[in-house]
Amino acid sequence: MERNFRHLFPALSLLLIILLSFFIITSSSSSDEEWAIISRFQQYLQINTAQPNPDYAQSTSFILSLAKTLTLESETLEFAPGKPLVLLKWPGKEPTLPSVLLNSHTDVVPSEALKWAHPPFGAHIDDDGKIYARGSQDMKCVGMQYLEAIRRLKSSGFQPIRTVYLSFVPDEEIGGHGGVESFVASEKFGEMDVGIVLDEGLASTDEKYRVFYAERCPWWLVIRAVGAPGHGSKLYDNSAMENLMKSIESVRRFRAAQFDMVKAGLKAEGEVISVNMAFLKAGTPSPTGFVMNLQPSEAEAGFDIRVPPNADEESLEKRIAEEWAPSSRNMTFEFKQKGSVHDMFGKRALTATDSSNPWWALLEEAVRKANGRINKPEIFPASTDSRYFRQQGIPAIGFSPMANTPILLHDHNEFLSKEEYLKGITMYESIIGAYASYVGPAGGETLKDEL
Ligand SMILES: [Zn+2]
Repeated sequence: MERNFRHLFPALSLLLIILLSFFIITSSSSSDEEWAIISRFQQYLQINTAQPNPDYAQSTSFILSLAKTLTLESETLEFAPGKPLVLLKWPGKEPTLPSVLLNSHTDVVPSEALKWAHPPFGAHIDDDGKIYARGSQDMKCVGMQYLEAIRRLKSSGFQPIRTVYLSFVPDEEIGGHGGVESFVASEKFGEMDVGIVLDEGLASTDEKYRVFYAERCPWWLVIRAVGAPGHGSKLYDNSAMENLMKSIESVRRFRAAQFDMVKAGLKAEGEVISVNMAFLKAGTPSPTGFVMNLQPSEAEAGFDIRVPPNADEESLEKRIAEEWAPSSRNMTFEFKQKGSVHDMFGKRALTATDSSNPWWALLEEAVRKANGRINKPEIFPASTDSRYFRQQGIPAIGFSPMANTPILLHDHNEFLSKEEYLKGITMYESIIGAYASYVGPAGGETLKDEL
């Protein structure tokens, strides 16, 4: 027995060495790959594309260089001078099927660099793997995750049946007029025959991803009151200030009732009409501030109102005309912006999240297969470029795979952890694989009639 063991030692040691070196080689090549993925993300984050002067030249050349390494077809469209939209294409085997569009915006909001722990365009990674940068959540992460997912699908030999497009669009943060709004109206967009769009969502603080099927549309309302001026000591009816204050009180009560539903857990943030005062303008200026013994003849207030797609627009308009700015109180109103809750076909601009929409089921299943979990679908509380796609009657789903992450878009110290970023790539690999392989009925185009 003893002799037999001794004979085995050299063989066993050799086996151990082989196994160990195999382990070292594989783990170092996977960490090399991870390093390359993170460093590509950092490079994109380091390009200063902050409004109002985004460096689109650099972001464009960076995206085009990545597209080249992935052998994707590319073109640069320009609907407004100096605002390039980079369109990449991975042709499918069945070009007659409606395509899949993966959208992301390249611009970011400005930042107050001095209030950050690390420079907003440094893409610094701290010891626990948090990558700090403006755009790390909104939404350079998603743009790069699409490309990394495609890189993996390509290296696994996957071939799409449907054509997959990627649009890297400018100016989302300033309304998308020179970006997606013009893009969807173009001949090029029509030729692409888009069946489904994926666009941005929000981070979630727990382990379930958030997904968005609609968004609230902005109504920017200015109300004005006029009235007889008078001495500051006099009590009289129908002064401009008095009339405006009655309106503000009425708006405040409406706001509180909407907010109460959110506080009570009866409705989600995106399901109520939000109203917030953006400005108040009144008073007669004096060298030391305002004249104090004078009641002004004009006063106005501005409100940012956000209307969910299932809201009753008519009753809100009636409320504005009759309670918030009634002509009986010498008041007038004007919309600085008034989005529609309907699409161009007169239907509610929302994407179905039931069995009538195969893309929804495919997304749920793909995330589940990649070991992710998703929350109940929500209405996005603010605006994204998705609204332009939905207004064309095209289904659009907002999804930025960032679980266990505080919501820091537009905030100081925006960050995303390496771990969540890498997990998100796995989610997209699964989703893009499922979407590009889908050959079932409807596609998305007949859904427009069913919504
Ligand atoms: Zn965004």
